[in-house]
Amino acid sequence: MGTDFDIAIVGAGFAGSLLAMIARRLGRRVILVERDRHPRFAIGESSTPIANLLLEELAREHDLPRLLPLTKWGPWQREYPSIACGLKRGFTFYSHLPGAGWRSDPGRANELLVAASPRDEIADTHWYRPDFDAFLASEAVRCGAEYLDDTALGPPEPGSGGVAFSGTRGGKGMRFTAGFVIDASGPRGYLHRALGIREASCGECEATRAVFSHFTGVKRWDSIHPSGGIPPYPADDAALHHVTPGGWMWVLRFNNGITSAGFTTRNAVEPGVAADDEWRAWLADFPAVAEQFEGASATREFTRLPRMAFRGEIASGPWWAQLPMAAGFVDPLLSTGFPLTLLGIGRLAKLIRDGLPTAGVDEYGRRTLGDLSHANTLVEALYRVMPDFGTFRQLTMAYFAAAIYSETARRLGRPGLAPGFLMRDHPTFGPRSLEIFRRAGHVDGETLRDEIRRLVDPINLGGLCIDSKRNWYDCNAGDLYAAAGKIGSNPDELRGMLARCGFA
Ligand SMILES: Cc1cc2nc3c(=O)[nH]c(=O)nc-3n(C[C@H](O)[C@H](O)[C@H](O)COP(=O)(O)OP(=O)(O)OC[C@H]3O[C@@H](n4cnc5c(N)ncnc54)[C@H](O)[C@@H]3O)c2cc1C
Repeated sequence: MGTDFDIAIVGAGFAGSLLAMIARRLGRRVILVERDRHPRFAIGESSTPIANLLLEELAREHDLPRLLPLTKWGPWQREYPSIACGLKRGFTFYSHLPGAGWRSDPGRANELLVAASPRDEIADTHWYRPDFDAFLASEAVRCGAEYLDDTALGPPEPGSGGVAFSGTRGGKGMRFTAGFVIDASGPRGYLHRALGIREASCGECEATRAVFSHFTGVKRWDSIHPSGGIPPYPADDAALHHVTPGGWMWVLRFNNGITSAGFTTRNAVEPGVAADDEWRAWLADFPAVAEQFEGASATREFTRLPRMAFRGEIASGPWWAQLPMAAGFVDPLLSTGFPLTLLGIGRLAKLIRDGLPTAGVDEYGRRTLGDLSHANTLVEALYRVMPDFGTFRQLTMAYFAAAIYSETARRLGRPGLAPGFLMRDHPTFGPRSLEIFRRAGHVDGETLRDEIRRLVDPINLGGLCIDSKRNWYDCNAGDLYAAAGKIGSNPDELRGMLARCGFA
């Protein structure tokens, strides 16, 4: 007996909808089930160069040209002005100590700016998820996916005739069957609960929690602390991070007047303290950050995520697979969520094309958990060195170097040069970076900073770790040309690559 659908996707966040579109393009009958109704709030907003490149590759490979403008700020503004987003030219970090104000330092020792693009036109974006996800869900419908929102699904019932689902929608019962189930329902979501998937340890990340909201009236940091020079990009047109000894804050500005902000901490919640009081108490500890939020108002209630990090022990089975965010999540530091999710979508797309072979689905689950574990090790390391901002800054160089190298390898059509998430499968960089992440915080800062410099050097295409830049890294084609040999290329080939991606 045939099933009603080839694939059931549970959860219509951006990832579930994108995978539904791809599966339709691959000729599969798809049902996409969402418990909520768009537009709805979702957290996870800041994109990166590698995430945008992965999105672009998926859109091209699967004939989804309507998604292409969403991969760069300029085309997005022209094609979809009604879908709100934010301009992200880079990654901005400022270091803060409790009770102390913030003063610009001549050596820029308390800051780090890493440009991700040379100009606004081809810049990355922050996705305003209520608009972005609603658009993607409507595109999934356009591609022919059956879409059920506002639906409460009961547990899956696998059997010889596929997987049966019962549920309710608008007070009415419903039932359908599908050949394969993809869980795109986010952290500790649908299959995590239905299958009772056990959680693996996230080590030191277990205790991290977050408090966040959306705001209006947040001041630009560069209006209260103008830079003593011309920075590589306006510091607020970025993912702006305030780094403290025990956690960090993100500040992401959208073009609709809303700013997303939240902090992470490992301190326990004091019993009876409401989330908004906790927010105010956190700001009170960091006066310069408080100044940025003076007069700002939250546009929605605060969300408190008590245990942000989690990872299941398995992420796939004979009739199911979880997208990365449903399989685990560590911390939003360095925005690894979107690239991991898009890598997962790309891998599942190949498996769907090949008929979802069991061995491939097993391997998908292992790789997904391996990537999450790698991200976990990096984030643990970053937290350990947060009290020493110089070492924290240097450790981010390992991330930026791997991200730039991976992006360049893909753009040159040689992704095999940078295998695995953040090159974790690279024969030398992979094991060496893991070793350094594990040592971070356990050896003295100077030794670690030296080791990171040596780690980064062979893959350093972005002119990183150069002291004379005093922690401001622009997007400089000259740095790339000078390092051409490190990626088996030459300046001419790289010039052509930059021209194709609109750099010049
Ligand atoms: C605090 C925080 C900040 C983050 N910041 C960033 C960032 O800046 N950059 C970045 O790259 N990543 C970030 N992430 C990660 C990012 O949120 C995820 O990568 C991204 O949201 C994954 O998208 P998704 O569609 O898989 O899941 P989600 O966005 O979680 O969507 C899941 C969908 O499934 C639906 N759903 C849930 N349960 C059910 C059910 N039982 N039945 C049907 N539907 C269901 C939900 O309503 C929702 O629509 C952040 C994560 C957190 C927690």
